[in-house]
Amino acid sequence: YVAKKERNTSKMYSPSMNDVPKKELMLENSLYKALEHGQFTLFYQPKIEMTTGRIYGAEALIRWKHPEFGMVSPLDFIPIAEKTGFIIPLGEWVLHTACQQIREWERMGMTGMSVSVNMSMLQFQQKHIVHTIERIISDAGIRPQQIELEITESIFMDNAVHTLKVLHELQNLGVKLSLDDFGTGYSSLSYLQNIPLHTLKLDKSFISDIVSDFKKQMIFKSLIVIAHNLNLKVVTEGVETQEELSIIREHKCDAVQGYIYSPPVPAARFAEIYLEHNR
Ligand code: C2E
Ligand code: MG
Ligand code: MG
Ligand code: MG
Repeated sequence: YVAKKERNTSKMYSPSMNDVPKKELMLENSLYKALEHGQFTLFYQPKIEMTTGRIYGAEALIRWKHPEFGMVSPLDFIPIAEKTGFIIPLGEWVLHTACQQIREWERMGMTGMSVSVNMSMLQFQQKHIVHTIERIISDAGIRPQQIELEITESIFMDNAVHTLKVLHELQNLGVKLSLDDFGTGYSSLSYLQNIPLHTLKLDKSFISDIVSDFKKQMIFKSLIVIAHNLNLKVVTEGVETQEELSIIREHKCDAVQGYIYSPPVPAARFAEIYLEHNR
């Protein structure tokens, strides 16, 4: 972990105290201690395969149990971690914890779980990222195929050539790659053409109002056809209602994640849901 090395630099380029909201500053200052004090935890949200209805894996989503603020959302501290470089040790902790969890689940008889882990741009700028990922996976004694790294197009904003090389090395290692949040921001079809992807994740914004919005439905339907023709699996995120689910089923989307099945839950709760659901 490079936590100690990064610590000083993060303080040096902090913007002046007046510009930054107080809570953000307090969070920034307590991030490092939080990792040392074990205040981070991973929640897991089931990924359900449409054809079988079975849970085949989970997405790992980080939570911060802050002693003063309570459960802090990743939306509030991941941007800070990215700005300060803390995402490097934190990202390693996330992958390590997810891999150990897969191992633990294997021991419990939950075999072949596919766990998705979110990655930040800065992690891909690390020289030894592929080696680090390989080491964490082999230390846990799991197969690289059990890990799916979720990326967004933002990882290409800095040094796209290097990033693409890293992605090909990861593909050779055997880990799967999925493009997250497709349909938001600057999502472009050219990414589907150039990245060695396994899965396309359609963002929640794609299916909210899909029931009443015919054009949205046609785009959704067509994107699934495009993805399938490119040999990609399609996962829809943020599914909340039966109506949404039936449209998703109709258009042959491969898998879903959403509150309709379960929100992200602690690992122990996930195992209960899994055993109950896949019985
Ligand atoms: P994401 O990767 O797109 O994760 C999906 C988000 O949608 C999660 O929010 C999840 O709780 C939420 N969600 C799932 N199903 C539903 C639903 O049916 N309805 C609604 N309204 N929301 C749903 P969460 O856990 O707050 O995470 C937010 C974002 O924070 C993630 O978006 C991801 O970009 C980032 N994040 C989370 N954990 C990590 C991590 O370990 N590393 C990095 N770099 N980023 C992370
Ligand atoms: Mg994700
Ligand atoms: Mg997403
Ligand atoms: Mg996201």
